[in-house]
Amino acid sequence: MSNPTTTSDPILPEVKMNLAPPSAPITGRVVSNDMCLKGKSNSYVRHTEIDITGTAIAGNFIVGQSFGVIAPGVDEKGKPHKVRLYSIACPKWGEDGQGNVISTTPKRVLEEYKPQKKTDDQIRHTLFIGVCSNFLCDLNPGDEVQITGPAGRRFLLPANTADHDYIFLATGTGIAPFRGMVKELLENPEGPCKSQIHLVMGAPYDTDLLYDELFADFATKHDNFHYHTAISREIRPDGSRGIYTHHCIDEKIETFRPLLENERTLIYICGIQGMQTGLYQVLATNGLSDAYLTIADDWADLNPKDWPWAEIKRNVRPTPRCMVEVY
Ligand code: NAP
Repeated sequence: MSNPTTTSDPILPEVKMNLAPPSAPITGRVVSNDMCLKGKSNSYVRHTEIDITGTAIAGNFIVGQSFGVIAPGVDEKGKPHKVRLYSIACPKWGEDGQGNVISTTPKRVLEEYKPQKKTDDQIRHTLFIGVCSNFLCDLNPGDEVQITGPAGRRFLLPANTADHDYIFLATGTGIAPFRGMVKELLENPEGPCKSQIHLVMGAPYDTDLLYDELFADFATKHDNFHYHTAISREIRPDGSRGIYTHHCIDEKIETFRPLLENERTLIYICGIQGMQTGLYQVLATNGLSDAYLTIADDWADLNPKDWPWAEIKRNVRPTPRCMVEVY
């Protein structure tokens, strides 16, 4: 167990790491590979379940960790594809209850080629298809996958889940670990966790919400689970513009304030790079940042709304009660 720095800091469990290194991946077999978007969308996101029975990783991962996937074939330089990491989307007992079926949430990468530097072809705009996520999305039940891992020792549920309340903020496929965490909290074989759990899910359009039916169902069945959505590109019924996850917290600050002031509460942020800074500003503006952020001394007198964007990362750092996994 890692040592907390204050009594309300989470005590994180020990984890196993790299039981299957890139030099000796294990072979998993796809069990299912179904779309997990709420509705018709321009995106393609799947929930992929992979059987890893009898391998070193089976039963030896926990939610919040990732596993690696090695796509078959070689890259444009003729070298084997590198490992790509995917967040585990299931609780520690896996999809099967025994830790033998692991899952994740791959999204197809379909973009136009964009020049990155001056020496790149400046007029090329052909279709660019990401290697590994498209490989995963293409798979059918029975297909084999080379898997490494597990990886990650920081973005975890605390060892004693009942000691804390939870605010989870996700954008897009950043929802993957929270599917696993919410299932771990609410579907525990020893009974559901009674802690307060708020999930704020951000997506461009309502139809892009992931695992929406599952979370709506949990919210119906568990009084302590609260499901919020932040849709960024749709005009809302009152005529206002779409919102990001931190706007949702700001708009409902009187609901969140007692929770954020409570020393039990942990914040988890997962998804698009930059999503954390909006939340940092909302916390600081509302006088709620002390437990979650360490702000540089010479920024103490600045209005958080005026924080220079490019310098936030250097001057505002999350405490152990605010866990951030963005890229
Ligand atoms: P997506 O469907 O495009 O949704 C992203 C949402 O976030 C959109 O509604 C977007 O709004 C909004 N957004 C953009 N900037 C934001 C900001 N500064 N603050 C809050 N919200 C913001 O998402 P996606 O394509 O699945 O991408 C998800 C990202 O999560 C990827 O970058 C992926 O690499 C990352 N991810 C990380 C992990 C991890 O670290 N373990 C796991 C999974 C995914 P607009 O586009 O309308 O501006």
